[in-house]
Amino acid sequence: MDTEGRFAEKTTLHIRSLSATSPAMRAMYDYDPEHENIPADTERDLLLEKVAPPVFGVVRKFDGRLLVLLSYTCAAHCRYCERQDRVGVGLDRRGRLTTGQLDDVIDYIRSDESITEVIASGGDPLTHPRGLEYLFGALREVEHVKVLRIHTRFPLQTPRQVDVDLMGRLATCKTTVFLSLHVDQPDELTPEVVDLIGRFRGQGYILISQSVFLKGVNDDVETLATLFGELFFLGVRPYYIYHCQRIETTARFEMEFDDEIKIMSTLRERLSGLAYPQHVLDLPGARGKVVVPSEHWDFDHSRTRDFDGRELSTDTWQVTTAGEQQP
Ligand SMILES: *Cc1c(COP(=O)(O)O)cnc(C)c1O
Ligand code: SF4
Repeated sequence: MDTEGRFAEKTTLHIRSLSATSPAMRAMYDYDPEHENIPADTERDLLLEKVAPPVFGVVRKFDGRLLVLLSYTCAAHCRYCERQDRVGVGLDRRGRLTTGQLDDVIDYIRSDESITEVIASGGDPLTHPRGLEYLFGALREVEHVKVLRIHTRFPLQTPRQVDVDLMGRLATCKTTVFLSLHVDQPDELTPEVVDLIGRFRGQGYILISQSVFLKGVNDDVETLATLFGELFFLGVRPYYIYHCQRIETTARFEMEFDDEIKIMSTLRERLSGLAYPQHVLDLPGARGKVVVPSEHWDFDHSRTRDFDGRELSTDTWQVTTAGEQQP
């Protein structure tokens, strides 16, 4: 997988078959030597995810919620991945959390009653099914954990490899389990995927989706209206759409922030509120996923503030003033 430290191409049979007729699938998954021939910067910490974790394998940035990076493996590599300094390179050598590391994570969660929500992420947690089952099995016994979430793209990348029975067992671990599907393009909603979504619903998951604005993939009103509308009709509540993180190797995907705001404003006028996700910025070098207002408001698009009061420029995506508290 590691090609001299580069974020290697990795696809699946499913993706290759869709790519034959879908330029969007090719844009999402085809390695582009012209823009990507650079070793991944494994020192980079764009989203402050490596700052002294309380226990190995987790990120704790927000009160109440704990992100568990269960596995740095994915079924396929999305070329715009914001964690490409770790997925498939660098920390991937440590791969999946071991049972011992998971025990430490579970002890940490057990000892902190303020953690009410645990999010299994990665990489892709569905590439580590035994770890996921182990984690959820243990958390079932932890009174203060009220909500579990699985954030995955695996069902979109290789639907036939999803272990449906395992998914059923995970859904019954807790009364409330959210399944967040990362979906960027209507071409990903194939009949196999639609069938899986129906099964997940039957298993008791609350289904939500997350997307990223991507030039050449979903950068227009029609594509996103179709995507969010179809998800909504299937019972998947669109939750977030993010601005693509600026990394040297992903620059070709990054949209103009103002264009995203325009598209979201038009979508708000067209879509059911239930089909309309929040447009958010996961602020680089700062702490916070901030919600972007629509054009129905007059606001200064060029500046925002993170949860600690640091100011950021949305032209450079750099922090411009220090906040009250350092990370
Ligand atoms: C995104 C994220 C969460 C979840 O945030 P929500 O806004 O609740 O979806 C939790 N922890 C970390 C570290 C995150 O990056
Ligand atoms: S599935 Fe998620 S973590 Fe994996 S490569 Fe794609 S965007 Fe990155």
